[in-house]
Amino acid sequence: MSDRVPFVDLRAAESELAETLESAVLGVVRSGRYLFGPEVEAFEDEFARYCGASRCVTVGSGLSALELALRAAGIGRGDEVIVPAYTFVATWMAVSKTGARPVGVDVRESTYNLDPELVEAALTPRTAAILPVHLRGEPADMGRIGEIAGSHGLFVLEDASQAHGARHGGDRVGGIGDAAAFSFYPSKNLGAMGDGGAVTTGDAALAERVRALGSYGSRGAGEYAEGGSNSRLAELQAAVLRVKLGVLDEWNARRVRLASAYREALGGDDEAELPDVESGSEPVWHLFVIGHPHRDACREALREGGVETGVHYAALPHLTGPYRGAGPFPVAERLAERALSLPMYPQLDPGAPTRVASILRGAR
Ligand SMILES: *Cc1c(COP(=O)(O)O)cnc(C)c1O
Repeated sequence: MSDRVPFVDLRAAESELAETLESAVLGVVRSGRYLFGPEVEAFEDEFARYCGASRCVTVGSGLSALELALRAAGIGRGDEVIVPAYTFVATWMAVSKTGARPVGVDVRESTYNLDPELVEAALTPRTAAILPVHLRGEPADMGRIGEIAGSHGLFVLEDASQAHGARHGGDRVGGIGDAAAFSFYPSKNLGAMGDGGAVTTGDAALAERVRALGSYGSRGAGEYAEGGSNSRLAELQAAVLRVKLGVLDEWNARRVRLASAYREALGGDDEAELPDVESGSEPVWHLFVIGHPHRDACREALREGGVETGVHYAALPHLTGPYRGAGPFPVAERLAERALSLPMYPQLDPGAPTRVASILRGAR
């Protein structure tokens, strides 16, 4: 019981799959194909099918997936894109990289996700898209967002970087909006052994534009479009991702069981605010975040008790660098001051939630 509990443990994940991963990687090493090969092609098919989208285009990172999907939808200078106030800065940054302006909207207290009831007030004639984030693995309210987008003719891009496999109304994220962006950063629910990302969509023409933009904007015959970049997934990473896609549902199910264990263990603690789940939503708990009025004292007590925690995010986009001054977003700001991310990964000891809860009860 006195063992240290890390916040995430990627070595535990990789060692569970060691033999399969090693043979997949060795297969690529011996193949002589390192880009544009059979692993990428197979992964794109498998991941599109998994998400219920007809197309998947792999790219170099989650940030790049967001940027290229927006560019492929024709979004750029002069446009505005609605983004949630509570997210990782990459969501806002991807919009800026296209030349468009990210317009922050506050979130729902219950889910930390974009509050659709506040979106309409933020629309202007320049608004071109809504970019909801399925934060912590919990789907945004895609039903309401879809209605608003539909009635104003807006493009909907899901930021599904934290939610591989989550469902909303029975549908997997990645197959709900006009397009979705995924990150395969190593600690994500579906993680590579380095950087990677993908765009899923049901729009074949959009998928082809993403593919071209990731390849210097190539239009064939030596012609290159503006906004192109070098953004693609290595065969090695695709081989790793195919192995891990095979266990994604099982590993997500473990996250769900751990979340229930946290809920049960923390149920009697009236200071710990547990995440709500909206009806029709099936989260995959990339992070398990509670709110606590004495967040910093709790973190310290947990650290002394050998339990590593995180804070997502130490600074919201509008409180940092280039976006300072957007806002205020009172709900997001209040949530951010109380947010404490507890250890969460598929190989986490099932006894950890009880231990965390007992340390928290002692910390005041
Ligand atoms: C991880 C993440 C990204 C960025 O992904 P990278 O692969 O690191 O570029 C974007 N948005 C959200 C919500 C993320 O969690």
